[in-house]
Amino acid sequence: MMRTASIKLGVTAHQAAALAALQAAYADACNRLVPLVQEHRLWNRVSLHNRAYDRLRAETPLGSQMVCNAIYTVCKAYKAQRQLGRICKDTPVPSIRFDRASVHFDKRTYSLKDEIISLYTLGGRVSVSLRKGEHQRRILESGTPKEAELLCRKGQWYFNLVVESDDAKALASGPVMGLDVGENNLAAASTGKLWGGEALRHRRDRYLALRRRLQSNGSQSARQLLRKISGKEMRRVKQINHETSKAILAEAIEHGIARITMEDLTHIRDRIKAGKRMRGRLHRWAFRQLQGFVEYKAHAHGIEVVYVDPAYSSRTCSGCGGLGRRARHRFVCEQCGLRAHADLNASRNLARIGGTAVLPRAAVNTPDVANVGREVHVLQ
Ligand SMILES: [Zn+2]
Repeated sequence: MMRTASIKLGVTAHQAAALAALQAAYADACNRLVPLVQEHRLWNRVSLHNRAYDRLRAETPLGSQMVCNAIYTVCKAYKAQRQLGRICKDTPVPSIRFDRASVHFDKRTYSLKDEIISLYTLGGRVSVSLRKGEHQRRILESGTPKEAELLCRKGQWYFNLVVESDDAKALASGPVMGLDVGENNLAAASTGKLWGGEALRHRRDRYLALRRRLQSNGSQSARQLLRKISGKEMRRVKQINHETSKAILAEAIEHGIARITMEDLTHIRDRIKAGKRMRGRLHRWAFRQLQGFVEYKAHAHGIEVVYVDPAYSSRTCSGCGGLGRRARHRFVCEQCGLRAHADLNASRNLARIGGTAVLPRAAVNTPDVANVGREVHVLQ
């Protein structure tokens, strides 16, 4: 099983400048590959290597292995686009900008010794200290380090190192992230991050209005059109869910999360009491699909996923545990006066519940919510 440890790097100003120069050159190399990929429809690593390697060595300051890594990064990005259905047979290959791309490292471009990592840069190797937390340390001790991504977020450099181990056990203890799915926003994490929102809901409402009109029309051509737009809408939702779950996992990895807690959505009807109009708005299967995507991506990174009973999680205060009121996006506690974004308040409650003892559930990835039978165990 593969796990990713996101390790902070302790760099001097001089080393930070060397890493920034490498990242800029790497992004430039990736961007130079894009027209070749577009023109020749090449996203196979060997084919692109044959066509582009000499040119990149001549045009960029990157060493031979880093050129190979840039080719790898571009192929991976285009393969992802293909899986998302964005590259079709008869349409032009889309352009991708790699300006903030992370730098791919492999065994030939980094080496690890205890608390020090030696990294390739344009001006030769630099030795940088690793600032491992308890969770990162545990991941590193669980197996063999493989490839990694070097990235910079808000001025801080990270080395996201993939570790392969034989044992498939989750790393049971560590920080918990609560993930609230599908009310005001597409998702809210207890780390304070929100995904999706107004724009998404607006499109969905437009789709539902169109569907209602076609349903009430009832002619054969209306039925055909309905089938067509339904399929299109499902593909669109699937793509959004793929991208969102990827961003959620990046957030979890950045925070060294060991466990993600989500609500069991079989109860979503009890939770959303805003009436028929609100329920009609929600593609419940779409939120189950998002949870399923989060679940399998989390497992691929050794992060445990648990589902908990959502009772009261939207009406409970994440500060004092008392009951509060929610009005659309706002949550107000009647006891301690806490005011918070309603979805973030719910996600913090989920994190807290997940921090006690909750049993995992088998993976379910199906749009058919009504027919999914499963048990949820919550031990308080
Ligand atoms: Zn309170």
